[in-house]
Amino acid sequence: MRIPELYKEKKPVFSLEIFPPKRKSNMESLYEAVERLSDCRPDFISVTYGAGGNIADNSTCEIASTIKREYDIETVAHLTCVNSTREDVREMIGRFREADIQNVMALRGDIVPGEDIRREFRHANELAIEIQRECSGQLEILGACYPEGHYQSKSLESDIQNLKYKIGAGVRVLITQLFFDNTAFYDFLGRARSMGINVPVSAGIMPIVKSSQIEKTVQLSGASLPHDFTAMIGRYEHDPEGLYEAGIEYAIDQARDLIKNEVDGIHLYTMNDPKVAIRVWKGIRDLLPQSRSGAEG
Ligand code: FAD
Repeated sequence: MRIPELYKEKKPVFSLEIFPPKRKSNMESLYEAVERLSDCRPDFISVTYGAGGNIADNSTCEIASTIKREYDIETVAHLTCVNSTREDVREMIGRFREADIQNVMALRGDIVPGEDIRREFRHANELAIEIQRECSGQLEILGACYPEGHYQSKSLESDIQNLKYKIGAGVRVLITQLFFDNTAFYDFLGRARSMGINVPVSAGIMPIVKSSQIEKTVQLSGASLPHDFTAMIGRYEHDPEGLYEAGIEYAIDQARDLIKNEVDGIHLYTMNDPKVAIRVWKGIRDLLPQSRSGAEG
């Protein structure tokens, strides 16, 4: 199934994101997690790609193709480019095609300050162009966007302006960085639409259920913290179980508000934790299209 077609059929599209385990020996537990995640009947699962760009031990392709084949769930394989040669990228595209993968998320990847990068690709739009060149229309391309602006962009406006390069290069669906403040998302979407970006945009939601996630997540995403969120963190500072429950409730409230405001899609960052993802899904499933009611209970 080509992912952009899904967005024409359903609103909202409900998707999940997982990441490959660090060690191949943990692959079995990843598939156990996928088995449980399949209860939510996601429209697709996206599988992240190591930022280092090392293709030799990369398992994104294998995982995406196994999920598609064994669990009958559509997948999106992420692909980063900033640390890859053109040859590496062509090799990965070839592997995706052999594995019957139809959807790829074209990403630049993070640049670690001081680290040497390859510089054959500078931005995600250049990767999207390469994908198009290699397989003209046989792979659908998705891309990332940032409701509060990418951390390297001068302003939200210039970041949105740069998004147009991606769309021009063939990106047909956008998925956002995680955020905790829906008003930032609505503001971003309004501006993007007024600047001529008309592709579907799925909202990235990450339930925060442990205090250890807070600093790391905020640092990496640059997401701002609205008052309700910081109040929740303060209230449950010394109560891990309370934070776990409140974090799930926060994500559910966020997603319900987005769906009521006609968001194109909800993309749940699962952190490979099916228990949390299923709880969030159960909190929103009455608002999802009927055909995807999934497991009971
Ligand atoms: P780009 O689109 O290249 O944008 C990066 C910066 O350059 C922005 O400031 C932008 O405004 C600017 N820019 C873009 N195009 C141009 C241009 N043509 N000319 C000048 N400036 C330009 N990382 C991973 O390593 N693996 C993953 O699997 C992964 N998955 C992700 C999934 C999602 C949904 C999101 C939101 C992020 C993901 N990331 C992943 C992180 C991502 O790689 C980083 O955020 C990275 O810093 C930017 O990637 P990008 O594709 O948005 O880059």
